[in-house]
Amino acid sequence: MSDTIFGKIIRREIPADIVYEDDLALAFKDINPQAPTHILVIPKKPIPRLSDATPEDQSLLGYLLLTVQKVAAEADLTNGYRIVMNNGHDAGQTVDHLHFHILGDRQMKWPPG
Ligand code: 5GP
Repeated sequence: MSDTIFGKIIRREIPADIVYEDDLALAFKDINPQAPTHILVIPKKPIPRLSDATPEDQSLLGYLLLTVQKVAAEADLTNGYRIVMNNGHDAGQTVDHLHFHILGDRQMKWPPG
């Protein structure tokens, strides 16, 4: 299992506001929300970033997107939401455990910062 902060959340070594869990994925509220709704969806498998995923992870990556869809529906984000995945240093990734951000309940801008 990963030693990142997200690995500790998966193992319940540190608390988090968990909104969804199954055998493959976990979703919890971001500790520093950038929108009124800001939820992180992570695989339990500790893949550091998208660039480290392999063909073996193909179905897991699709599964995570469907988990994003499910979590967003449960959060009642009927007006839409933004999904963000930061990959590596230049993208601003700070936790080396692959994750999708779900941001909602406010109007998003484009281009992103
Ligand atoms: P990244 O910058 O890597 O794309 O996103 C990492 C996210 O994890 C950030 O939005 C940050 O606020 C969140 N985060 C970091 N540490 C914790 C934590 O201990 N608990 C929770 N719930 N979120 C965290």
